[in-house]
Amino acid sequence: MNKIKNYLEDKQPIVFQVLKNSFKSNKTSHAYIISGSKGSPVLETAMFMAKSFICQSKDENALACEECINCQKIENQTYADFKVINGEQLKTDVTLSIQEEFNKSAIEPENVKIYIIHLIEKAPISSLNKLLKFIEEPDSNIKAIFTSNSVSSILPTIVSRCQVISLREFMMKDLVNYLKENDVKDDDAYLISRISNNAEKNLQLVKDESFETIKNVLKESLTYLANKRDYFIVYFQIDGIKQFKNNDEIDLFLDMLEICLMEALIKKEDKTHVSFFFDDLISMISSKYEHIDQMINDITKAKIDLLSNANKNLVFDKLLINLLRR
Ligand SMILES: [Zn+2]
Repeated sequence: MNKIKNYLEDKQPIVFQVLKNSFKSNKTSHAYIISGSKGSPVLETAMFMAKSFICQSKDENALACEECINCQKIENQTYADFKVINGEQLKTDVTLSIQEEFNKSAIEPENVKIYIIHLIEKAPISSLNKLLKFIEEPDSNIKAIFTSNSVSSILPTIVSRCQVISLREFMMKDLVNYLKENDVKDDDAYLISRISNNAEKNLQLVKDESFETIKNVLKESLTYLANKRDYFIVYFQIDGIKQFKNNDEIDLFLDMLEICLMEALIKKEDKTHVSFFFDDLISMISSKYEHIDQMINDITKAKIDLLSNANKNLVFDKLLINLLRR
């Protein structure tokens, strides 16, 4: 509980200040854009704002407690006057049904209707224009919170009608330090910080018990690769692939393998480069393979194949065969 609030307060002090000021003085806008790079917690921040509009026991900053019944209803998306819509789903029929709802009065006693449109840049412009007209009515009790990974791809006429709140880009150093402060081992902190910019999510990933398992499969895989052993494929079929409980874990494994190969590629150019994780194995890989750039490509292709629900065993067979011959 209160994770996103702590995160905003500690790591996004400007955003926190802006939210605090507007909620405390009751000067909230009708429409917001929460922007941040891919992987940053834009949706989590939008949800926190939604809670802050209707929370029953706001804190001293007039922000959501994240515990009361209303906050929980927002979290579970069961609050009657609240909706989260993905930008790409905002087709004409969805827009029409939202417009209809805009015309009705609020159901819950707080008398405010809150809409989050996640990744607004993926929504058709005509739909957005229709919705914004409603929101701009002077006596409107509608609050719209848009999230975005790229404000520059949103029409300026829309941006100008919203208050834009930008999440600060985390520097690699900040990310690593944040994890270390939370008792994450150095090598894990460096490895996971390369995968995503979301400090909170990274912390959750590393603290999850499956992380050690996935890291072990990674270590085994790097060992097989470093020794260029054909037995890698058999290991993966018999043991490796069974360690993954779901697609997210496979994604994480492939992301980590990709990062290690990127390190190997850097080492190929610059022998003095030291990797903060699996340095010995990465050194061996960098000297044994000619085409590490192609290995990184192989991983990208495997990720695409997995997205189309291809047979996982076949995708991994193909990937490992390709990797070993580069
Ligand atoms: Zn609350």
